[in-house]
Parts: sequence; C-alpha cells; structure tokens
Amino acid sequence: MTTKKVELLRIRDLHVAVEETVIVKGVHLTLYEGEVHAIMGPNGSGKSTLAQALMGHPKYQIVGGEVWFRGRNLLEMKPYERALAGLFLAFQYPQEIEGVPTGRFLWTAVSNRRKQGFEDQYPKDLLAFSRYLGDIFDSVRLDREFAHRSLNVGFSGGEKKRAEVVQMLALKPALAILDEIDSGLDIDNVKVVAEALQRARDGKLGILIITHFPRILHYLKPDYVHVMVDGRIIKTGHIELAFELEKHGYEPFLETVESFTQSALLQ
Ligand code: ADP
Ligand code: MG
Repeated sequence: MTTKKVELLRIRDLHVAVEETVIVKGVHLTLYEGEVHAIMGPNGSGKSTLAQALMGHPKYQIVGGEVWFRGRNLLEMKPYERALAGLFLAFQYPQEIEGVPTGRFLWTAVSNRRKQGFEDQYPKDLLAFSRYLGDIFDSVRLDREFAHRSLNVGFSGGEKKRAEVVQMLALKPALAILDEIDSGLDIDNVKVVAEALQRARDGKLGILIITHFPRILHYLKPDYVHVMVDGRIIKTGHIELAFELEKHGYEPFLETVESFTQSALLQ
C-alpha cells in the first residue's frame, strides 16, 4: 500500500514588498506533512519578510505569486484565520505583552482552536490544561512560574525563545514557522529546544525553520535545506548543504548570485 503525501504548504513565485521595496523576489517551496525544511541565508536576504508575509502581517504586501496552505488560498485569509487553520509563527523578535499572563493567553488560544473542531487535541478543562502546560515548560527547561508572568515581559532573550517554543508545542499547529528560534540561546538550550522539537515530530507536524547557524540542525534533522539570498531560494539540498555553509560560509553563494545578476544585466 502506498500512502499519499499530504501537502501542507505550496508557495509559488512569491514576491513580497515592504514600503514599496520588493524584498522577496520569487520564492518557490513545497512542504508536505511531517517534513522539516530549513531556510538559511545571510542577514537581510528576506527570510523574516517571507515568514511575516506567510503569517499575514499587514506591513508586508504580496506583490506577486500564490500561497496554498492545506489546500486553501492562504493569501485570502486574515492572520487570525491562518492561526486557527493551524499555521504558527515563532517570531525572531517576540513582542512583550503587558498584563496578559502567558498561561491565560495560551488557554484562550487553545480554547479557540477547540471551537474550530480540534477538541480532541487538547485538554478540556483548566486543571488538565495547566498540567499539560507544566509538562511543556519542563520539556524546554523553562520554570513553570513563567505561566503566571506577562507574555515575554522582562524575559531574557533565551527565555523569550523558549516561551515561543512552549506556545508552539501547546498549540500543536499543522505547520510551525520558527524564525531564528536558536539565536539568543546558549549551546545547552539550543540542544534542549531542538530535542523538544524533534520529539514533537509525529509524522504530521511540518516545520519551516529559519536559521543562520547549522548547530540546531545537528539535533533537529531537516529533510531539506534551502539557501536564500537576495529574496530567492538559490539552492536546495539536504543536511550536507548546511554543513557546507558551516565550513565555507555564504561567500561562495553570493558569487553565484552576482554572476547571475550580471549576466541578467548583460542580456
Ligand atoms: P533576514 O530575516 O533574512 O535577515 P529580513 O527579511 O529581515 O531579512 O530583511 C530583508 C530586507 O528587508 C532588509 O534589507 C530589511 O532592512 C528590509 N526590511 C524588512 N522588514 C522591514 C520593515 N518592516 N521595514 C523596512 N524594511 C524592512
Ligand atoms: Mg530575520
């Protein structure tokens, strides 16, 4: 018996502009259930712009292309509809939200998902939920006390990143986009976070992980590694590609882009 792969995300020729400047210049990517894809690339190549555009941040204008999420036209959905449909973004720079305790925030978010027909995925009462959440805090070695603190307020860089992972694990999205989840984490916590993510892989969860550093990919094994330079994915490979970047940096790839641009100009 052959099992058919279920498509989670299909991006076709996506162009995204910020304040009239086109930053993402034709990205193609297809991700199936259970797959982990890593996007790597130098600063300013448009990785976060791509992530924000997928989540529907109003500042990022879609100026071309298509995005399908679980068979639905993502670009026609409002940001909260995207979240309810199972898309999650862990921000590179998580926002501090004063007056909203982390635990209560997550209980509300989970309750909304339950109302969308995902009842059996989550604990149904507050007591069971707090136990559920406690285990998730433990899994990323974040003190359970953080559930009572306002979301991200006064958290250190590394604590914010681990709080993002707590949110993702508690919400159980279909697809998690993790934007530099490893920056600001010390070496031990990179391992803790990556192992928690690896455990969350259940054959269905899709992960799009954006990172500068191959270190996290030693523990969270990606199926595909994409290199993004100047708004485009210029190379796709497997884990060896990440290790190649670890050795030689992005420099060899930048030369490829330069000759590509120059030959385009000469035509
Ligand atoms: P990366 O995440 O790959 O480092 P970004 O997507 O953050 O890159 O940024 C790509 C380019 O877009 C940069 O030149 C950056 O200055 C610009 N940019 C991104 N977001 C904004 C914004 N909100 N306002 C203005 N410029 C932006
Ligand atoms: Mg970024």
